[in-house]
Amino acid sequence: MTRCESVVGRDRVFREPADVVGYHDAFSVLSDDPHIPSAAVAPADIDELQAVVIAANEHKIPLWPISKGQNLGYGGAAPVLKGAVIIDLSRLNRILEVNEKYAYCEIEPGVGFFELHRYLEDNDIDLWMSVPGYAMGSVMGNALERGAGAQPYGDHAAQICGMEVMLANGEIVRTGTGAMSNSTTWHTEKFGFGPSWDGMFCQSNFGIVTKVGLWLMPAPEATMSAVLSFSEEKDLATAIDSLYPLKRQGLIEHNIAVLSYVGLASYTAPRSRWYRGEGVMPEEIGAKLRAELGLGWWTSFLTLYGYADVIEAQAKKITELLQDSIAPPTFNRWKKGDPMEFSGAGIPSARDIQMINWRGGRGGHLGFSPLLPADGRLAYEQYQRARDSFHEVGLDYYGAFAIRDRSIININEILYNRDDRAMCEGVQQLFPRLIKEAAAHGYSEYRTHIDYMDAVVDTLDHNQHAMARLNHAVKDTLDPQGILAPGKQGIWPARYRHKS
Ligand SMILES: Cc1cc2nc3c(=O)[nH]c(=O)nc-3n(C[C@H](O)[C@H](O)[C@H](O)COP(=O)(O)OP(=O)(O)OC[C@H]3O[C@@H](n4cnc5c(N)ncnc54)[C@H](O)[C@@H]3O)c2cc1C
Repeated sequence: MTRCESVVGRDRVFREPADVVGYHDAFSVLSDDPHIPSAAVAPADIDELQAVVIAANEHKIPLWPISKGQNLGYGGAAPVLKGAVIIDLSRLNRILEVNEKYAYCEIEPGVGFFELHRYLEDNDIDLWMSVPGYAMGSVMGNALERGAGAQPYGDHAAQICGMEVMLANGEIVRTGTGAMSNSTTWHTEKFGFGPSWDGMFCQSNFGIVTKVGLWLMPAPEATMSAVLSFSEEKDLATAIDSLYPLKRQGLIEHNIAVLSYVGLASYTAPRSRWYRGEGVMPEEIGAKLRAELGLGWWTSFLTLYGYADVIEAQAKKITELLQDSIAPPTFNRWKKGDPMEFSGAGIPSARDIQMINWRGGRGGHLGFSPLLPADGRLAYEQYQRARDSFHEVGLDYYGAFAIRDRSIININEILYNRDDRAMCEGVQQLFPRLIKEAAAHGYSEYRTHIDYMDAVVDTLDHNQHAMARLNHAVKDTLDPQGILAPGKQGIWPARYRHKS
């Protein structure tokens, strides 16, 4: 740590408990949190980062890199391994390039959604972003975790095109065509010569990403948006089976989320506004709430983006395709120059954080997010199992089914009051059960909380966990001292493996 202080300055090494608490998992349900870091170091540039990584290698100090550390619902800034030192990259926050012609940006880890959005606006750049529901985090950290937004470029990892990565020995590598020092296509061509490495540095602990190229969406001339409401619980199957073909055929470009009403209500008020009792909110109260807020049991949002005449034709086709299954959508029209809030563009906001207040007290949430086929019956069955498990521990069900090109990410938000010990214990019973139940049906998770990374890896059992052996072989080669994010995604360096 003294060496770190001489590299980054004493005021950028945080060791006092009052400082380190900012890097804890703010939503932890555990009474004895096993993910407390020992310190945090905030380098100002690549040279300082490199000196810190080389020192950590010499002294075998485990590090946990974060971009902005806002990974809430999945562990926040906290490391899997207790005592690891947080490498806070939020000071590496330059927007290095935004290229309007080729529609990409090149950014450092500390660039947030708000900063990039402001940069595009201030410089009158005709490119749009996709943003997560809670946008206080970093563009890079979210993409590396394969985060998602509601806009057409909402599969954030899929927009990555070329990275710069610091390996555990301090060496810097550029991926894709960036491997050529005078490359002219680093952020415009995803695949160069040889193996493709961008994916290897997403949801892994094989390197620290120091720069990333990300594709942005050319701003459309017009948009058309509709809200679809499904009144009954069982309508989930109809919603999925009606909407998935629109996605598969390319009529809708963004992932189509079908959200349960508790989630939408939680953005407006805590549940005490409707119900002050214990346990699960009764269905008759839910019905009253839906009537008051004008919500269906499930709600979905569609937006078409493009040339006005083209999207008018798409809207007509969509209405025709949906006519036998659901009520015809009413589209609202937006065109360039109208107020942006009605455009369907990704505008960063922190609104969704209000959901953690649902159960009162010091709130929190955990995301359980299995991947399933885009099939209505299977989605409804998965929903029923998850709902029953939520109810068994006295929690209201809140879930979203995000229809992607061929599959669904089912994000179940477990909302709780951290001041209620019994509720926190219920959450601890619920999560492993959800993992187990989903795995029994062939559904693995797309992303998980730091408490459950080993449990999720345990479900990846093909050929006696061959994937874990492959990951460990790569880890041992790239990071033989095991300093980078031990335990992340269940990938443990050799020196910790017997303990995990
Ligand atoms: C109410 C609410 C709603 C949310 N909605 C969404 C949503 O719609 N979509 C969504 O995707 N998420 C959502 N989230 C989850 C989360 O807030 C975001 O994903 C957030 O963007 C992640 O934080 P971050 O960008 O600061 O990443 P960080 O916390 O900085 O990074 C996440 C992880 O990635 C790794 N990492 C980060 N940077 C690097 C690096 N440079 N090199 C190597 N590894 C690195 C680390 O393991 C780190 O722990 C939501 C959270 C809340 C509370």
